[in-house]
Amino acid sequence: MSRRASERGAGSVLVLGVIGTVLVLTTGLAALGAAQNSRGVAQTAADLGALAGATAFQAGLDPCAKASSAVVRNGARAASCRVEAAGAVRVEARRPVALPGGLSALGTARADARAGPRTGPAGEERAEGTTAVPGRAAALADAAARHANGRIPRHLLCELSFAADHRLRCDAAVAIERLDVAFRAAFGRGLAVRGSYRSYEAQVAVAASKGSLAAPPGTSNHGWGQAVDLGGGIQYFGTAEYAWMVANAGAYGWVRPGWAAPGGSKPEPWHWEYGTGA
Ligand SMILES: [Zn+2]
Repeated sequence: MSRRASERGAGSVLVLGVIGTVLVLTTGLAALGAAQNSRGVAQTAADLGALAGATAFQAGLDPCAKASSAVVRNGARAASCRVEAAGAVRVEARRPVALPGGLSALGTARADARAGPRTGPAGEERAEGTTAVPGRAAALADAAARHANGRIPRHLLCELSFAADHRLRCDAAVAIERLDVAFRAAFGRGLAVRGSYRSYEAQVAVAASKGSLAAPPGTSNHGWGQAVDLGGGIQYFGTAEYAWMVANAGAYGWVRPGWAAPGGSKPEPWHWEYGTGA
């Protein structure tokens, strides 16, 4: 073999080696990313499940049925659910880990969460679990806030346990789960959600059909996952349901912006916001 040919041979081996290393690294990184993503989804589902279960328990509803439905709606499976002392609910959620394209199952991501009732002085929550859910929701809300209006990835939003296909920024979702339990105690039925997070494209469609009545795309608080449109009586000024919202929603952080009030620039009794400073 000439010296040149042997150099070429060594070069080919080197190139193959580099390609192989890159392939292994890429596959490894994809697997790591898939595992982290599944773990994040499972944790969010467990958090929301535990919270929905604990609030249901306080309202005299079946805590584990409510917890399971919240887990499923947030992309995982409820592996276990149990009610502990004082109405705290512990939930374990699982989600399969698969490479993009669903080529192969790599295992199962597990996460658990515990949520319980307030027991201390007003505003103070028990150390274990009860503060974990709001803390986790706040972290997801921070992550969501780093995206543009109407462009928040689905996995950073939380789906409501009582309203299929309606998602909000996770801190707003936690707050409205609690508001829903209080509303249910007062009226014997849950909040009727007609609108929630709205993608940029959906806001374009709303603006096209409602004209100046709709917020320009990219500016609506629905695009931040911090607004809901409610029905079930709340959509009319002067009903018992609307009066209840005015009296009670604020205790859960939900407010009626001034423009939507009677005599406001665009009266909309159905529109309520969370954390917008309205
Ligand atoms: Zn609205």
